[in-house]
Amino acid sequence: MKPIHMNRLSWPDYRDRVQKEGATVFLPCGATEQHGPHLPLGTDHLLSAAVAESVAARIDGIVAPPLAYGYKSQPKCGGGQHFCGTTSLDAATLIGQVRDTVREFARHGVKNLVLCNGHYENQWFLTEGIDLAIRELGANPPIKVMRMEYWDFFTTPTLDRIFPEGFPGYALEHAAVLETSMMLHYHPDLVRLDLIPDDGPADFPPYDLYPPNTEWVPPSGVLSSAKAATKEKGGWMVEELTDRIAATLRKEFG
Ligand code: ZN
Ligand code: MN
Repeated sequence: MKPIHMNRLSWPDYRDRVQKEGATVFLPCGATEQHGPHLPLGTDHLLSAAVAESVAARIDGIVAPPLAYGYKSQPKCGGGQHFCGTTSLDAATLIGQVRDTVREFARHGVKNLVLCNGHYENQWFLTEGIDLAIRELGANPPIKVMRMEYWDFFTTPTLDRIFPEGFPGYALEHAAVLETSMMLHYHPDLVRLDLIPDDGPADFPPYDLYPPNTEWVPPSGVLSSAKAATKEKGGWMVEELTDRIAATLRKEFG
């Protein structure tokens, strides 16, 4: 297997992989954000990087260092900004980081770039950063960029198998069964099963307030219960993600 981490390659080795072999480059995007008492603050960037690594290993891709800070945590999908440890960027800062890195990868000769996102709140700001870079690169940009939220690659049969009592939706799945199971698969040493709280599912009204009403959010920061998380479920999820993302990249990028 070829080395997959950009930050461990020398520049000539990286250049050859990208320019001669046409390696696809992955930019994992995440956050530094509370994930309850049982998961680490880095969960969103650890998982997006781990998914990118699984797929890169399959297709001889390269994984760039992740964008480890994300857009501001929102109460309804990440618990909100009032938790100690949650460390977020203004939208303009995140957009600028994405625009600049996409432009740099294009300059390196990267033909195919994948932004693999693991933090719900990032989506439109990643889109904007990519769009600004592509606009700057002119009418025939030398790079193709795919943006994905990795969870969109789960199929209904898999979700039915993981949530026999019904899927609460991705927004409420913060620090819950999906992320905890995937962390049990990739980083079991970072999960504290004994500390999983019994909160949730959180019941939010159909509007937002500024400043936010922190009483809407369970004090643990977990938006629906993670009690049903298992390493086995994490394994099913990772297998499905790896297969389906790799197949999609072969279809779109050849
Ligand atoms: Zn998360
Ligand atoms: Mn998040």
